[in-house]
This record gives sequence, structure tokens and C-alpha cells, in this order.
Amino acid sequence: MATIVQEPLHAEKKAGLFVPDFVFVEPNALNYPLGRELYERFQAEGIPIQMTTSHNQVRGIPGETEVEKYRNAKRTLVIGVRKTLAFETSKPSAEYALPLATGCAAHCHYCYLNTNLGSKPYIRVYVNTDEILRQAEAYIVERPGEITRFEAACTSDPVSIEHITGSLKRAIEFMGTQEFGRLRFVTKFHHVDSLLDARHNKHTRFRFSMNADYVIKNFEPGTSTYEQRLEAAGKVAKAGYPLGFILAPLYWFEGWEAGYTDLLERLRSQLVPEALHDLTFELIQHRFTKIAKKLILQRYPKTKLEMVEEERKYKWGKYGRGKYVYPDVKAKALQAHLEKEIRRLFPDSKIEYFT
Ligand code: SF4
Repeated sequence: MATIVQEPLHAEKKAGLFVPDFVFVEPNALNYPLGRELYERFQAEGIPIQMTTSHNQVRGIPGETEVEKYRNAKRTLVIGVRKTLAFETSKPSAEYALPLATGCAAHCHYCYLNTNLGSKPYIRVYVNTDEILRQAEAYIVERPGEITRFEAACTSDPVSIEHITGSLKRAIEFMGTQEFGRLRFVTKFHHVDSLLDARHNKHTRFRFSMNADYVIKNFEPGTSTYEQRLEAAGKVAKAGYPLGFILAPLYWFEGWEAGYTDLLERLRSQLVPEALHDLTFELIQHRFTKIAKKLILQRYPKTKLEMVEEERKYKWGKYGRGKYVYPDVKAKALQAHLEKEIRRLFPDSKIEYFT
């Protein structure tokens, strides 16, 4: 059953929620209750709707230049049906990616979706949530007696579109009923209210992506502020969810040590006590590929993001596709500083990895 929050769109826009400028619908999506509800809703609100034969090939997003098309694509919602029910793997944080949606309306310069989504930067939501969750259950059953973890933020920021679909809440409640199933996701948004009363049964780890002020202000346009995310993290902890922070990308800037210490000290002083019981940190240093650099410079030509290959270490990856990370001296300094400060301020937390 579809569970859309029926606020008028102008109120949603005012609250900083994503409201599309253009909507495309796959005909088959209208055979699902959520597909129909969304279609009727956007039609009633007067948002231009076009049909598209496939959510993989959306034609007709306006724009004179590539950059204009890209920006408009990020204001476009595509309502489709997920046909491939084979899930991708999602190491190191989970066994599988849970495919509820792809794309995001925000403009983080270093977003992994810049390259992952290639020519499809639009926001695509799948309306066959029941089938997707049934498939997740099949994966859980395949590993009897073992915990199977699903990551719901591999291809989008699921909180940023939750007001449209309600699918994340359904996934949280579904996983709450699964003895061996666990859900995790990460967000840079603070719109968490509709998720606070979900019957999560502590089977979902709710993570926030945090960074030093300098990094959020310079590189994460369109996301919630540090303060908003912190307040949301407090609400989520009070609602009994296991909480986590992904500090990413850890970025080397003038004054980074003080910047990251300040971030962690403010987290410590402002976080509600409930949050400290079951808290995890994941640490990811900044990296880029040659393709990502090219796309970032095309799409955000004024970016201050430093991507000088000669100042980085090349790390070979799968299929010969490597990436540029910090040289060992810098990476180790970032890791040592962050780990020291986390242990000092959050002695009961768990650092899951540094990569
Ligand atoms: Fe990408 Fe996350 Fe930023 Fe959205 S909020 S643009 S998914 S990094």
C-alpha cells in the first residue's frame, strides 16, 4: 500500500523538500497503487507529466547545454518499475544494495553518483516496493542463521525522497520483522520526522553523513546544514534507532585538524545521551577518478575541490579502474587524528573502518 505524506507541494518546497519540476512515468508504473497515487498527485498539482517507455531511457529533459540538461535532470522525477530483481553487492558496509531509488536533487561536488549514474542523473523511484522487499527476504533466507545486511543509500539519498514515496519507512518496518535482516542507510538530510514512529525493532542503523563546516559549506549545496543534521540525529537516537556517522569525504584543507576536532566536539556536546549507547563511525578519505574529475569540472566549473593527480597516490581497483587517494603520509595523519578524537570523545563507539 502506498504511504505518501500528502502535504501540498508548495509547503514541501518551503520546508526544503525536493519537489520536481518535471515528471516522467513509465506506463507499467500505473499498475501499482504508489504509481497511480503519484501520477494523480502531480497531475493535480499541475506539474508537467510525460510518459516514457522506459525509466532507463528518458528523453525530453529540457536544456540547451549539457550542464543545463544535467541541472534540469536533477529536478526531474521518473516513476518506474524495477524489473531486475538481482541486487548488487555493497561491501564493506552490507551484503546487498537495496534498490528503492536512484539519483538525488542535491549538488555535492564529489558525489559518487556523478559517475555511477552516468547519463541518468534524474531521480528515479521504483513503485514495486513489495516485489523488491520480497526479493530481499529471499536473500535473507539464502543465508540461514546469518545476518544479512542491506544498504539503502547506494544509489540515492533515500531520506531526501521519502516524502514522495514512503518506501524507506516500509523497508524499515519490513526489516523490523526479519530476525536475520538488517537495514542501513546514510543521509545528508534532516527530514526524518515521518520515520520516527516506524516499527524498526532496532534492525535499522540510521547514519548521517557529517563533515567539517568548511567542507559542507563549500562542497555540499542543496543538502541540510550541519546543525539540521545534528538535530535530526538526536531525534533518531531518541526514537531508539542504532545511530551512525559517516565522516566522508575526509578532506585535507587548511586547518583540517581543528576543523575535524570541532566537528566531533560539537557532536559530543550536542548529541542526546541516548545516541551514545550504540554508535558507529565510518571514515572515508576523499578520492576521485579521472572520469569523476572531468565530470565535476564540467558540472561545477568554479569548484574549489582539489583534484591534482600529482599530489595523490594512485590506488589500483577492480578491472583496472583505479582512483586517486591521499598519499600514505596524509591518509595516515587523517586516520590517526580522527581515530584519536573519536576515542577521546566517544569511548564506547565503534569505528567500523577507514578507507
Ligand atoms: Fe550525492 Fe548524497 Fe550529495 Fe545527494 S546528498 S548529491 S546522494 S552525496
